[in-house]
Amino acid sequence: MKRIFTQALTLLLGCGLLASCATNPYAATNKSYKKQAKAYAKSLRAIPAAPTGEYTYPQGDYWVGTTNFNLRKPNFVIIHHTAQNSTEQTLKTFTMPKTSVSSHYVIGRDGKVYQMLHDHMRAWHGGNSRWGSNTDLNSSSIGIELDNNGSELFPEEMITSLIAVLGKLKKEHGIPAENFIGHADIAPARKVDPSPLFPWKKLADNGFGLWFDEDVLDKELVLREVPVGAEGDPTPLLVMETVPKYTLPEHFNPLDALRIIGYDVRNPEAAVRAFKIHFIQNDVNSPLTEDEKLILYNLYQKYL
Ligand SMILES: [Zn+2]
Repeated sequence: MKRIFTQALTLLLGCGLLASCATNPYAATNKSYKKQAKAYAKSLRAIPAAPTGEYTYPQGDYWVGTTNFNLRKPNFVIIHHTAQNSTEQTLKTFTMPKTSVSSHYVIGRDGKVYQMLHDHMRAWHGGNSRWGSNTDLNSSSIGIELDNNGSELFPEEMITSLIAVLGKLKKEHGIPAENFIGHADIAPARKVDPSPLFPWKKLADNGFGLWFDEDVLDKELVLREVPVGAEGDPTPLLVMETVPKYTLPEHFNPLDALRIIGYDVRNPEAAVRAFKIHFIQNDVNSPLTEDEKLILYNLYQKYL
């Protein structure tokens, strides 16, 4: 009797702690996750051997495994908005094999975080994308989907949770600040997420992503000599003038700057739009203004 009671208690506690009992609506797909994870674990445990067929090669006399290694780790975080209407809808989408899309984390409007995949595994969130010379962002990144329809604000609870997740990822994997970017950044011709309503500056203030210097568009007062008077009168007039604090170098090329930051500039309008979605967050379909070029120049120097 006592044993049965203990077993029931263990089961209850297990359900409470792991949320993995029969009440979990994803029990069937979780089983599929475990099966796949087990197959990968088996492959990792196997002793490496030469392939058979076309690419075979002579092997050494005995197998020697190194003692010095760990798992490959993610070095980028890609932030998305789901363009869906609920977390539940996204969880469903990411557990249907036919959709072929997934992400490591899904964060709800209420701030609840669903980690759907181990950080060391490869999720399918980036699609055809490029950042610098990196053409397989899925292999080197963590994908985070925010439950947001694309035209609404990102609630505070969601951003608070996101910042906590990013803090954990940055610490655990040593991800550099500049490698926290958005889906539109890595796929400018195809994607516009997260939307211009996403608080990138707040993230940058917390160490995730870069931001331009606040004073980059400041003006300052200067004294300038203006030659006046009749010919032969050498007395110049001193005038106060407002001039931009920073100016662009003479041969500044915005597309080169975007490329050095990481943008794929094969479609220049798309690259400018992605940059504006992230850093200007306004009027994203227009070409760069002079002020926006100053912001770009300021940022580009941080990426050098
Ligand atoms: Zn996306």
